[in-house]
Amino acid sequence: MSSDCIFCKIISGAIPAKKIYEDEDFIAFHDIKPMAKVHFLIVPKLHVDTLKDCDDSHQVLLGSALLLAPKLAAEQGLAGFKTLINTGREGGQEVFHIHIHVFGGGKTDA
Ligand code: 5GP
Ligand code: ZN
Repeated sequence: MSSDCIFCKIISGAIPAKKIYEDEDFIAFHDIKPMAKVHFLIVPKLHVDTLKDCDDSHQVLLGSALLLAPKLAAEQGLAGFKTLINTGREGGQEVFHIHIHVFGGGKTDA
């Protein structure tokens, strides 16, 4: 838990989110600024800043996070989907708590 991390605040319930899934290790919720008709984030409850900060000890966590993507995408009605992990400021990362974007269903009208 990082006290100034927005995703840690969502995990703790301090900030609301449109949650679609939660278990012991992960939470998934709709992105506040969707880039597709369906756009959600899979977020480990463990605070890790970026993919660059992961090592062998995170192997199961990363694998489990990725395996949630098809399961949750199917639940959201997506026959296919894209995944994205932005890494580092130069990689387009804005929230420094590792997460996987999952989107599909076509572009938003916005
Ligand atoms: P990044 O660029 O770090 O990969 O993506 C961060 C994503 O988190 C962005 O798509 C942004 O819209 C989303 N986001 C940022 N703050 C919040 C929030 O408070 N709630 C939700 N649901 N999404 C957020
Ligand atoms: Zn965090």
